[in-house]
Amino acid sequence: MIWEPNYECLSREDMQSIQLDRLQSVVGNVYNRVPHYTKLFDEHGVKPEDIKHIEDIRKLPFTTKEVLSNNYPYGLFAVPLKEIVRIHSSSGTTGKQKVVGYTKRDIRTWANLIARIATMAGVTDEDIAQICFGYGLFTGGFGLHYGLEKLGAMIVPASTGNTERQITMMQDFGTTVLVSTPSYALYMVEVAEEMGVDTSKLKLKVGLFGAEPCTLNMRKEIERRWNMKVTDNYGMTELGGPGVAGECECGEGMHINEDHFFPEIINPETGEVLGFGETGELVLTSLTREAFPMIRYRTRDITMLIDEPCSCGRSTVRMKKVTGRADDMLIIRGVNVYPSQIETVLLETEGVAPHYQLIVTQHNYMDDLEVQVELSGDNFSGKFKELEELERTLRGKINKALQISVRVKLLEPKSLERTVGKAKRIVDMRPKE
Ligand code: ADP
Ligand code: ZN
Repeated sequence: MIWEPNYECLSREDMQSIQLDRLQSVVGNVYNRVPHYTKLFDEHGVKPEDIKHIEDIRKLPFTTKEVLSNNYPYGLFAVPLKEIVRIHSSSGTTGKQKVVGYTKRDIRTWANLIARIATMAGVTDEDIAQICFGYGLFTGGFGLHYGLEKLGAMIVPASTGNTERQITMMQDFGTTVLVSTPSYALYMVEVAEEMGVDTSKLKLKVGLFGAEPCTLNMRKEIERRWNMKVTDNYGMTELGGPGVAGECECGEGMHINEDHFFPEIINPETGEVLGFGETGELVLTSLTREAFPMIRYRTRDITMLIDEPCSCGRSTVRMKKVTGRADDMLIIRGVNVYPSQIETVLLETEGVAPHYQLIVTQHNYMDDLEVQVELSGDNFSGKFKELEELERTLRGKINKALQISVRVKLLEPKSLERTVGKAKRIVDMRPKE
């Protein structure tokens, strides 16, 4: 099923005509109502009237994360506070202050976009959806809640925490859809297994996962242990939360809700716009948000766009899995390292569990990366020699994948802290200038 075929299956021409209309209107709004944009557009010598074709979006300057913290809390709102009915704020993974607002119409649009992505994942009004995202300032909980309600699914608003109880709820209420971060889903299945629950007896059908990166290997592991299909969806606080893009049942990338978010990929160093199939930083412009429009927002997320037709029938452009956020990129002795590269190796290696942390330190001005990873439960009683061998194998594989040398430390099972939201993969203890 397709939630809104009138928008999701348009010809390129029709889509671009909607996008242009909406772009002209949002650019006019921010120029007239948000002092930051008035000043910025004037400095760049660009006026709303200059937007005559959709490509003219390239005349507009980018918006960076710093703009949000500099205008904290309400400086970028494009409507009077009286018209704002809700605010949300970032989960703070990268420590920057961001507050976004919603009008009544923004809230309705948001619910509709979530209904679209849930439908893409195969969720229907017959489903029972357990939402294990925090309800609060974080956009995930309320976002998924209103969208799934609009779809007509039955919601179990479980929120986060008390993991054993979450499993009991799944059993008692017959949960068919699990909404969470991939790392929490992995933690939950660990608890379920400890409780002696046979996951193949649960009614779970599909996982609606998002908010953090998840490698293909991690996805397979979650699918195997939960015995359900995993789908990915993407969004961020600055663009209103989840609902920007979602994966359809073909599993070949996430369809972007292009009539609401105009996507571009740029070279993060030069700002040059790249083509389909080229990897770079995702830049998004919100086309319909009233309270908090964003013009050419640099997400810092690394991905690529695909415009080939999808067999699901939707014609919207897709984005590939986000391989990492530029903010999470570590520079170790001059080499760029993403946690996902290490995760891939760990999940391909027998004997270790997919729970890991990267510890970065500095000695005599030299960076040092230690990969701490838990042994899998059945391996823990292993002989010292075998553990030494495992450590050596892992070190060899990671060194080869990253092209730098790292240290590997094997930990007892379950010794790393588990999170109910986004996993904390990096502990960078290098001195900051
Ligand atoms: P924070 O920046 O504090 O984590 P958000 O909760 O708004 O705040 O997180 C948005 C970010 O989360 C995105 O920019 C992206 O880096 C990451 N993210 C969201 N969904 C996904 C996804 N499906 N895959 C990978 N990363 C994601
Ligand atoms: Zn599709």
